[in-house]
Amino acid sequence: MDAFNLTDKVALVTGGNNGIGLGMAEGLAGAGADVVIWGRNAERNESAAESVGRHGTRVLALRVDVADEAQVVEAFGETVEAMGHVDAVFANAGVGAAGTRFDEMTTDEWRRIFGVNMEGVFWTFREAVRHMKPRGSGSLVVTSSLSADLGFSRGEHYAATKAGVRALIQGLAVEYGKYGIRANAISPGWVVTGMTDAFIEGDQFESVVKPRIPLGRWGHPDDFAGIAVYLASDASAWHTGDTITVDGGFLQR
Ligand code: NAP
Repeated sequence: MDAFNLTDKVALVTGGNNGIGLGMAEGLAGAGADVVIWGRNAERNESAAESVGRHGTRVLALRVDVADEAQVVEAFGETVEAMGHVDAVFANAGVGAAGTRFDEMTTDEWRRIFGVNMEGVFWTFREAVRHMKPRGSGSLVVTSSLSADLGFSRGEHYAATKAGVRALIQGLAVEYGKYGIRANAISPGWVVTGMTDAFIEGDQFESVVKPRIPLGRWGHPDDFAGIAVYLASDASAWHTGDTITVDGGFLQR
């Protein structure tokens, strides 16, 4: 199982201070990686760094708003300076839809989602590719969503970003494969996190959505540890351009 060992590898997880990103960060550190977490909230950054640091590898948490190009560029430089290099980048930071009817949606609301979920991913991956190309290796991973497969009423902008990032990684896989850079997406189903905990355990979701999950439960952040380790590791050396669905079987029903 040496192929899954992440010793001497450095992984960056945007949105790694909470939810799915924190589940990934814990898994990566548990497999031996040094981990860098980006997020806006200083307190959450600090507590995530403390928790991930318990695995004994190096952990750095930086305050970064991925919707700000200058901050992304500066933070990527700081990340490389502190860690020496970066092997895997998980562009996971994301914000959810506010539930606005499409015909009432403001341009500001549309751009709020695109700024983080699409442009934030663009800037993060652009800096990553600039770093990885001369090194001749790297793994890019983006967090997509089942909303790219299913109609998402009142969340069309969110779904458009999650479909958009799948198209983005397909292009990156083709353009940068010759430099040893792989690009994949993870598409989670319904996971209990800061984005969903306000409604996911309510009566309507429990009675209507949960029964549609063949594995019978909501996802939890630690359900994303294994797939993160796989995609950061040499075990996935020939795996690129793919979207991997991790949803307890929801999409199949
Ligand atoms: P979460 O618990 O709310 O985590 C979101 C993370 O993104 C936090 O760490 C947050 O940290 C960070 N973030 C948000 N805006 C940011 C910004 N502008 N700059 C930097 N960091 C930012 O939600 P989650 O469910 O784990 O979401 C993680 C990803 O999974 C998202 O891309 C989401 O769309 C996707 N997803 C979630 C589900 C689900 O059911 N939960 C399903 C499919 C896909 P700060 O607030 O400190 O910045």
